[in-house]
Amino acid sequence: MKFLVSACLLGEACRYDGTAKPCAAVQALAERAELIPVCPEVLGGLPTPRVPCEIVAGRVIDANGADKTEAYQRGAEKALQIAREHGCTKAILKEKSPSCGCGKVHNGKFNGGLVSGNGITAQLLMDNGIAVCGETAIPCSAAAEKLV
Ligand code: SF4
Repeated sequence: MKFLVSACLLGEACRYDGTAKPCAAVQALAERAELIPVCPEVLGGLPTPRVPCEIVAGRVIDANGADKTEAYQRGAEKALQIAREHGCTKAILKEKSPSCGCGKVHNGKFNGGLVSGNGITAQLLMDNGIAVCGETAIPCSAAAEKLV
């Protein structure tokens, strides 16, 4: 079994603020499955660190008001291509992100609030038949074992 995984969950310091968000349950999955790390925002050509973005009325806007939608779409396309090259049918993505979030994302007001919705990459993967879940869907390594 192969999973496409948000690279920041595996310890890569690729987040907007130059940090990682390592997730022990996701990392434990590496013992039983092949994990394919991707960071769609970096794949889209954005630097690290970068100005944070949120989704506003279907566009991806940074905290300075610049429209970064094109880079987000480019990164999503590349992540989908990588998933296909590796035969990944499932993805575990970082929650709340405007790229990777699934189910809930930040509300576009840069105030920490959340709204229902999916990040640009999560949505594209779902639209192409890849099952997406967030990291808290894997609460412990025992649960991760059942996924494989
Ligand atoms: Fe992590 Fe996804 Fe943001 Fe990259 S785009 S830092 S993988 S949440």
